[in-house]
Amino acid sequence: MSETTERTRIRRLPEKASTDRDDLDRVLDAGLVAHVTVMNHDVPLAIPVAYARRGDEVLFHGSTGSRLFRTLSEGAPTCLTVTLLDGLVVARSAFESSMHYRSAMLLGTASRISGDDELDALRTITEHLLPGRWQECRQPNPKERAATMTLSLPIEEWSLKLSDGDPDDEPADVTDETYGRIWAGVVPLREEFGAPRRSADCPDDISVPEYVRAWRR
Ligand SMILES: Cc1cc2nc3c(=O)[nH]c(=O)nc-3n(C[C@H](O)[C@H](O)[C@H](O)COP(=O)(O)OP(=O)(O)OC[C@H]3O[C@@H](n4cnc5c(N)ncnc54)[C@H](O)[C@@H]3O)c2cc1C
Repeated sequence: MSETTERTRIRRLPEKASTDRDDLDRVLDAGLVAHVTVMNHDVPLAIPVAYARRGDEVLFHGSTGSRLFRTLSEGAPTCLTVTLLDGLVVARSAFESSMHYRSAMLLGTASRISGDDELDALRTITEHLLPGRWQECRQPNPKERAATMTLSLPIEEWSLKLSDGDPDDEPADVTDETYGRIWAGVVPLREEFGAPRRSADCPDDISVPEYVRAWRR
């Protein structure tokens, strides 16, 4: 299937669309949280999940007891989005005020993965969120594996919208006697880690690992 379809062709503000797969991978690799939609009886729900990209698939996991995850694993069509917020756009008008963002949307059907492939997927998700941790932490035991459902959504039908640049003000507002004299611009917004905080039951003589100190956003 071609990656951009009639369903995923961006019509509104198409100048913000990117069909470059490298751009998509950069967004998926930068995000930590995806929203996955699923119908719960007659109610559409968007479930926030941790995820990771592995080649041409997006991996996420949940409880085998979750009806929503079971619905997805049974082939319910879904939409997965990843949104990175990069700034607030402060225009002269309320109408043109907006946001800088990178926003990916994938359509498709997820399937459950198992065995060694699932273990590799769990390692991939952990390493995406907590780089360096998998080698040091205890790996999932059989009971934990049994309680975990890992799903893969192929990267096949997708769209990507990238928003940046100055406010797109009406020329009349820029030259207006009143509104041409108010500040306009962009206020960047970025995510960052704070200083690591030791858990109450972690002995004082264990120092923060180098791989944790190295985490940057
Ligand atoms: C952080 C953030 C805040 C936003 N705030 C607003 C807001 O307040 N009001 C508003 O109207 N819009 C907002 N948008 C844009 C919004 O997501 C839609 O792109 C927009 O509303 C156009 O919708 P549409 O159905 O007319 O798009 P169309 O262009 O008709 O959609 C066609 C196809 O384009 C793709 N597509 C549409 N939007 C996106 C997207 N954001 N990312 C990736 N693919 C996409 C989908 O595959 C969709 O099926 C925001 C986006 C982001 C990321």
